[in-house]
Amino acid sequence: MKTRIPSERKGRCPGCSSQEIRCLPGIGKPFDFRAHSLVFSQKEYRIFRCCSCGLVFKDSILSEEFFELLYENVDFSNWSTYRLYPTEKPVLQYLNSLPRQSKVLDFGCSSGRLLEQANPRIEKWGFEVNKSAANEASTKGIQIVWDLVDLKSMQQTFNAVLLMDVFEHLANPTALLKDMSGLLKPGGMLVISTGNADCRACQTDIPNFWYFRSIQHLCMITKQYAETFANQTNLKISGWHESCHYDIAFSNRIAQHLRQIIYRVRYLHPQSTFGFVLDRLPILRKTGIWKIPPPYNASRDHAVVFFEKPMSCCLE
Ligand SMILES: [Zn+2]
Repeated sequence: MKTRIPSERKGRCPGCSSQEIRCLPGIGKPFDFRAHSLVFSQKEYRIFRCCSCGLVFKDSILSEEFFELLYENVDFSNWSTYRLYPTEKPVLQYLNSLPRQSKVLDFGCSSGRLLEQANPRIEKWGFEVNKSAANEASTKGIQIVWDLVDLKSMQQTFNAVLLMDVFEHLANPTALLKDMSGLLKPGGMLVISTGNADCRACQTDIPNFWYFRSIQHLCMITKQYAETFANQTNLKISGWHESCHYDIAFSNRIAQHLRQIIYRVRYLHPQSTFGFVLDRLPILRKTGIWKIPPPYNASRDHAVVFFEKPMSCCLE
């Protein structure tokens, strides 16, 4: 099952349909992803930035039916950990400050691992496309909305809607975010945690940055995108936190930073003396065969954004 460039991405931004898009440097190299016995192939791809709304997106993606198949077959236990990710800490702190019986929806709740750890006095709701993950979440006191149409009809119901590591999976992110904003009560909060394309770590070769080396990751947020979206929907950005997604051990962090420095010097200055010296050193000479950046999830490449709905407002 291969990726392709769907018509709404051919020369257009999938967020706002603008044709003012800019191709970022580099070409994403093809790779395969396995889910049980199925193989999904990412074809060569490019990364674009929309000059109008600021969305950063991959052009070649799987079709909707292949994505459905992938999410049905992917092993959700890969993300099941009882430890909090650094990106989840400000969100949990916010949830624990909510008044009793506040209604919170975790859109893409997986097995319910985040809400499970939140304040038991809040009402916990979830939506999840992977049925076994949703079933597990329902055993943890989380009320599951099984149908997206039903969910969209729950206008002005929730005090908070969370999209944790979901935005990057969306083929048309702006349309869904607008739907999610409509579910908020006045004064409610939309919280998004996702990869931030403005981060320093992905400026050298963004198509091959670890985040886009996932076949499931289709876009990244930017500050410009968040501000454009807030203006369009009459929301206010009340928080923007940048952090690493993972807790990485100190020695691993240092090793990752060193590998990046070596890769960048070789990538940007292939004829440099530094490369010449490395080629003559045991072990380090192997770095010359790197064709893509080494994995770099120790970077501060995530943003957690809090969008607040005013107490009295009318969404477009
Ligand atoms: Zn756009």
